[in-house]
Amino acid sequence: MPSSSELAALIRRAGVVGAGGAGFPSYVKASSRAETVIVNAAECEPLLQKDQELLRHFAPDLVRGLELMVAAVGASRGAIAIKEKHEELVKLLERAVAGKKALSVHRLADYYPAGDEFCQVYEVTGKLIPMGGIPLQVGVVVNNVETLYNMAHAERTPVVDTFLTVTGAVKNPCTLRLPVGVSISEAVALAGGASVPDPVALDGGAMMGKVVEDFSAPLTKTSGGLIILPREHPLVRRKSAGRPAFDRAGKSTCDQCTLCTELCPRYLLGYDIQPHKVMRSLLFSPPDRKPWSHWALLCCECRLCSLFACPENLNPGDICGYTKGDLAREKINWKSTPLNRGQEPRVHPIRPWRQIPVSQLKSRLGLEDYEAEAPLRQQPYAPKLVRIPLKQHVGVPAQAKVSAGQTVKRGDLIGDVPEDALGVPVHASISGKVTAVEDFVEITA
Ligand code: SF4
Ligand code: SF4
Repeated sequence: MPSSSELAALIRRAGVVGAGGAGFPSYVKASSRAETVIVNAAECEPLLQKDQELLRHFAPDLVRGLELMVAAVGASRGAIAIKEKHEELVKLLERAVAGKKALSVHRLADYYPAGDEFCQVYEVTGKLIPMGGIPLQVGVVVNNVETLYNMAHAERTPVVDTFLTVTGAVKNPCTLRLPVGVSISEAVALAGGASVPDPVALDGGAMMGKVVEDFSAPLTKTSGGLIILPREHPLVRRKSAGRPAFDRAGKSTCDQCTLCTELCPRYLLGYDIQPHKVMRSLLFSPPDRKPWSHWALLCCECRLCSLFACPENLNPGDICGYTKGDLAREKINWKSTPLNRGQEPRVHPIRPWRQIPVSQLKSRLGLEDYEAEAPLRQQPYAPKLVRIPLKQHVGVPAQAKVSAGQTVKRGDLIGDVPEDALGVPVHASISGKVTAVEDFVEITA
C-alpha cells in the first residue's frame, strides 16, 4: 500500500477530484488523518443511476480505492453507505468486503438527502459535525463512488473519462463512460436522442442540478447525470425562473408558515438553519436584511424546502444559496456570525418522521413518467473532437501546457497547476491534434 504522501502525490498527478458536486481535489483528503472513511453511495437524486451501475460492474475497483484511502488516512474503518432498497447491490458489496476486517456496508433508509455529508456522517458514525464544520473534525472523510474508482486506477490512468446517466426524455436511457470534453449533445445522441421537440437538460440531477440549454457544453470530471426534459416541464420552468423572480414571489407570497424550516434536513439534524427567516429578509432593505440572512449560512442547497416543502411553490433553498454567496463576498461565515454562540447541534426528536422518501419526491417533481432503468454501456466511444475545460472544479484553473498544432496521446498532460496551489492537472481524453487553446483545450482526433 502506498503511504499517505505517496497516495496524495499519485492522485494529484492523476487529476483525481470529487467526481460530483464541486469537485474538491482528492489529494487534500488523502493527506489528512481520520478514523473512518465513508463511501457515499446513497445516490439520492431521482432517476440517476451512475453509482449503482459503477457498483454493479466495478465493485472490486471501489473496494481497492477504499482500501487505499483507509490506509492513506490511517483509518480503522471503511464503510460503504448505500440505501438498503438496493438489496442486490448491498449483497454484492457485502461479498466484496467479506474477510476485510476494516470494511463494512452500512444500510441507509431511502430518504432525500441521505447523501448529504452531514446526514451521512451522523447515520454511519452517530457523530454530528460541528456547526459550520467539515467531516474531518469528527475524524471522518467522505468520498463518492467514482472518486474511489478513479483512485484505484490512478497508478495506470489519469482521469480522462467521466461516468454519467443520461435519462428523462430520451429514447434509450443509459449510463455512459465518455471522454471528458465530449459535448452534451453527443451524450444525448448516444442515449437515442431526445424524445421531445424542445429539450433542455438538468445537469447534475433534478434537485441540485442546473438547467442547461446549450447542448454544445462539454462534460467534465464532475458530470454525473443529465435529465432531459421538455422546456415546458414544471420543474424546468421552476428552476429557470432566476433570482429576481424568486425574490419577487417570495416577498409577495411567503406567509411565514415555517414548513420550509420544519422539513429542512439540516434543521432536523440540529443545525441553526431557518429558511423561513431568510425568506423574511426579503421584506427588508439591504442593511436590515442581514440579521435574517445569516440563517442561511448552514444551508447545503439540497432544495427540499423549495421543491417539496413550500406549499406556495416558493424557492427558499435557492434564496438561501444566493444569500450564502452574498455573505461570503462580505467575508461573513459561521465563525463570524452572531448566530454562532458555540452551541452544538442536537438532533430534533421528530427527525425520523420527517424524512422524505425519494418515491414521494419523484412524484412531487413530476418525474414518475420518466422512471426507467439506465444500464451501463461498456463499449468505448471515440469522439471526433473534445473540448476539455481548464477549470472544471474547486481550485485554481490549470494552465495550458500544449499549443495548437501539437499532437497528443490520450492520458498526456495538457494543463497543470503550480505545486503550491489547490488544484489538479488536466489530461488529454483522446489522442489527436490540439486544434485550439483558450480556457479549454480542443483536441481533434
Ligand atoms: S414554506 Fe414557503 S410559504 Fe412557508 S415560510 Fe417557507 S417559503 Fe414561506
Ligand atoms: S436547501 Fe432548504 S431544505 Fe436544504 S438545507 Fe437549505 S434550507 Fe434546508
